[in-house]
Amino acid sequence: SNLFLGSRFESTAAASDSSATPPAERYEYQAEVSRLMDLIVNSLYSNKEVFLRELISNASDALDKLRFLSVTEPELLKDAADLDIRIQTDKDNGIVTITDTGIGMTRQELIDCLGTIAQSGTAKFLKALKDSKDAGGDNNLIGQFGVGFYSAFLVADRVVVSTKSPKSDKQFVWEGEANASAYTIREETNHENRIPRGTRLTLYLKRDDKGYAHPERIQKLVKNYSQFVSFPIYTWQEKG
Ligand code: ADP
Ligand code: MG
Repeated sequence: SNLFLGSRFESTAAASDSSATPPAERYEYQAEVSRLMDLIVNSLYSNKEVFLRELISNASDALDKLRFLSVTEPELLKDAADLDIRIQTDKDNGIVTITDTGIGMTRQELIDCLGTIAQSGTAKFLKALKDSKDAGGDNNLIGQFGVGFYSAFLVADRVVVSTKSPKSDKQFVWEGEANASAYTIREETNHENRIPRGTRLTLYLKRDDKGYAHPERIQKLVKNYSQFVSFPIYTWQEKG
């Protein structure tokens, strides 16, 4: 496929000695992604809970990919034997964290996957939007096509993706905010934040959507969606 590589246009810090924390790099979103983000952030779409279905389905896809590859490369499982999804809620701070032990992403995969639209679902969404004469039609289209990863911005104004691919020794952190034209990627250097393999998404919920950080709310949604997921999904609440 013809992936558009995000353009690196600014380094936020200058690291002159190698012991310093590697700087976060800023990348501009592909124009289509910016458009999609605008629509999601400003949409009056009310069925916001679809974000969880989308993010669980991504976690499940990542676990499927790892499981498939591990048939011929069993050593891929060495860093984390369990294939599962963990959802943690922190209602006091309005944070939902979704962690999988799937295939993860390298730095380049973060740029290719979370900064561009290479995915059929979102591409179809934009096409349908273009074809739709009704300017307000996007409200129905979001639910109809699913907007994948970007649906996180239906409920969150800040999303942090920390991810570790078995192809790389390094863990990387993608960070994006609603209403921003760029995202950042940096290397994870804090040992407390290390994950053995896979991806952790942290959603900092919008003020009006903090209710999704209540465990009962998440458990109910998980129950609705988990019947289609072939990996265990665990939920728990951060102790207050
Ligand atoms: P789709 O799932 O239709 O491909 P998404 O927007 O949901 O589109 O996700 C875009 C891409 O980002 C995925 O195809 C995948 O490569 C990557 N991705 C998203 N979430 C994860 C995850 N939890 N683990 C690994 N890769 C992921
Ligand atoms: Mg998806």
